[in-house]
Amino acid sequence: MPSPVQQIADLIRRSDHFLVASHANPDGDAIGSTIALGYILSALGKDFCLYNPTGLPHQFDWLPLPAPIHTTLSGAEGNWIFVLDCGTASRVGDELHKVMGTRPIANVDHHLGNPNFGQFNWVDDSYAAVAAMIADLADELGVPLTGHLAEAIYLGIVTDTGFFTFDNTDPRIMELAARLIRLGLKPGAINAKIRNQWTVSRFRLWGESFATTEMFFGGQVAVAYVTQAMMERTGTDSADCEEIVNFLRRLRGTRAAAILREQADGAYKFSLRSTGADNVQAVAALFDGGGHRNAAGGTIADELTSAKKRLVKALGEALQLV
Ligand code: 5GP
Ligand code: MN
Repeated sequence: MPSPVQQIADLIRRSDHFLVASHANPDGDAIGSTIALGYILSALGKDFCLYNPTGLPHQFDWLPLPAPIHTTLSGAEGNWIFVLDCGTASRVGDELHKVMGTRPIANVDHHLGNPNFGQFNWVDDSYAAVAAMIADLADELGVPLTGHLAEAIYLGIVTDTGFFTFDNTDPRIMELAARLIRLGLKPGAINAKIRNQWTVSRFRLWGESFATTEMFFGGQVAVAYVTQAMMERTGTDSADCEEIVNFLRRLRGTRAAAILREQADGAYKFSLRSTGADNVQAVAALFDGGGHRNAAGGTIADELTSAKKRLVKALGEALQLV
């Protein structure tokens, strides 16, 4: 029985015309994986389109692309659709989600609880990043991990391991990073490109958001929020809220951190972070969200005070803080 990576490689070898998609508001792993797979398909001379419902975020606009990223499906076709880094099918956005039942889907993901929504599924939560799965695929297909392909893979790895600080940082991911460096990747230069992309507007938003921080359960849970008004005032958008939660987690004595971000429709999207055995994925799942044991998220359709209260209560119960 061929392994999943061999099966995916085979699927690529014998087909042509692919659509490569990942989740809306893509993080570095979603966008890095999309671009990396694009470079692999390009190296193999395959026809492909890249798609993301919300496009390439500004902070990544320095990334060299193997092809433009389509934000609508008209003109973006594929015999096979690769869905990358999506724990659930709906994360690809409404437009693609609606047509998913009618097209063959290859689901390549590393989220706990992925329901195997594709015709072909390679789901393995032992991988720290989907980008590392794409690197294994490149190896299987004999495409060298150099140049822009290596940079896209590295972006995915460092995003999902928090620059090798999260619990998912394991020998395999360090060895992959070491191999990329041995093959010519310059960590100083690429890290500067990835990290030094902040706007002063984002800085001001973070200041406002940090000021909302509340501590619960004797300092074991830190919660902050961002409202639409705060984003309007500072001239920022939801992409500027990424990562705030990782900084809340730095508060001494915290076991879990949460940020609530108001969406355009008034609902609150939340992000949770923890370490070790403290499972915040289980908390996110209570609100129909998901993710990983130490990094998870979801949405609560409620006003701020009540959403915060419900989330804090769920965290307190799950982590047995009450
Ligand atoms: P973040 O908090 O950075 O947005 O996401 C952390 C993790 O939780 C990611 O792995 C992401 O895939 C997952 N996640 C975030 N929001 C949602 C959501 O609404 N639904 C599901 N199923 N997973 C989510
Ligand atoms: Mn990921």
